[in-house]
Amino acid sequence: MIYKASHILTMTGDTIADSAVLVRDGGICDIGSNLAAAYPDEPVRDLGKCALMPGFVNAHSHIDYTMQRNRHDALNLWDWIDNLGCRTGCFPDYDLALQSAILGATECARSGITCLGDSTFTGAAAEAMSKVGLRGIAYLELFGQSMGNNYEQDFITKLNTARDIQSRISALVRIGLSPHAVYTSNQEVLKLCADSCAISDIPIALHLAETWAEADYTLKGTGPIAQWRARMDRPPMITGLSPTQTIYEAGLLRKGVCLAHCVHVTDDEIDLIAHSEASVAHCPRSNAYLGAGIAPMTRFRSAGATIGLGTDSAGSCMRLDFFEEMRFALGLARAIEQDAAVTTANDVLRMATIGGAETLGLDKCVGTIEVGKRADIVAVDLSDALSEEDPALAIMSRSPSDVKLVLVDGTEIVTKRPSGP
Ligand SMILES: [Zn+2]
Repeated sequence: MIYKASHILTMTGDTIADSAVLVRDGGICDIGSNLAAAYPDEPVRDLGKCALMPGFVNAHSHIDYTMQRNRHDALNLWDWIDNLGCRTGCFPDYDLALQSAILGATECARSGITCLGDSTFTGAAAEAMSKVGLRGIAYLELFGQSMGNNYEQDFITKLNTARDIQSRISALVRIGLSPHAVYTSNQEVLKLCADSCAISDIPIALHLAETWAEADYTLKGTGPIAQWRARMDRPPMITGLSPTQTIYEAGLLRKGVCLAHCVHVTDDEIDLIAHSEASVAHCPRSNAYLGAGIAPMTRFRSAGATIGLGTDSAGSCMRLDFFEEMRFALGLARAIEQDAAVTTANDVLRMATIGGAETLGLDKCVGTIEVGKRADIVAVDLSDALSEEDPALAIMSRSPSDVKLVLVDGTEIVTKRPSGP
């Protein structure tokens, strides 16, 4: 199929006017303005005045929790987690989690997201991503506090579960592991995850330095996170180190590890992360709504960190709307630095596409429109944009209702046909 559009944003630096993309066998085979003549037997889909661009990559989400939306208000993270039911034995049953995850995956797809880095305790997210047709990594969550003294055997059981899920889902979805955070996984579990990443190339995601309370907890065993654990009869796991130093000691600052949030980090820790090959998933709306703070996105970018954008769950960001996430990221970066020049719309679009793909280690496969990559492509309606508008800015001002087409691996998973007269 040849997809024609008024603009093609390749995200390699080129915006091509009045051009087309040839998709065959799920891959991008050619890009140019005369493809219909060059491939006369190939069907042509003319999308009109719109931007064809790489699908968005949501580098951190929890689609299992989509039905947790609008249940709680004005809760700080530790109280929010408590109300979410993240206590031993209080997770939702699999069928309910699956329905919630399918809703979340569908919302993501309708927002132009083609790829997820999703952390899931039940594993339902992996099945939901497969059913909806998304690409990505589903990180199976494990919590040191619920793994007890048998954590080594529990870890092996988790690896077996991961293999079992992998055998039942689409080849577009890979199973990883998520030790959640330094306050729910002990050092031994963090090290087991680091070894799995280093030896078996298992992708890892975890939450890091999301709130100020995390450092109080790891350094001194005090503060609201310690109180939350005490209510569950869980002793503090004091490392005497900051959260970032804690995972560095565990060997988790390595390639293949995605760190969600990184709000409360020092300049030295930003440099340490940036030079480590671990990546950062920036979740500006979730961090703002849960009162966690504003991550130093501009300083991470200046330090050369690999950084993508994430929504986190609908329970904390409200809408799995990537256009809103991009605008929030752009606005907050300028506000915190008190300088509108620090970040352009194109910088944020890059984070939302190829940046996210790099963050998940999938940049050889997706994230740009280039010959040889898989066809994860979205079409964003620009029919009411003026001719002099910058296409990148025009996309930033759109919403999920402007997404006309979503391809993952060449398969249309969202299509909006024009309504009748
Ligand atoms: Zn999260």
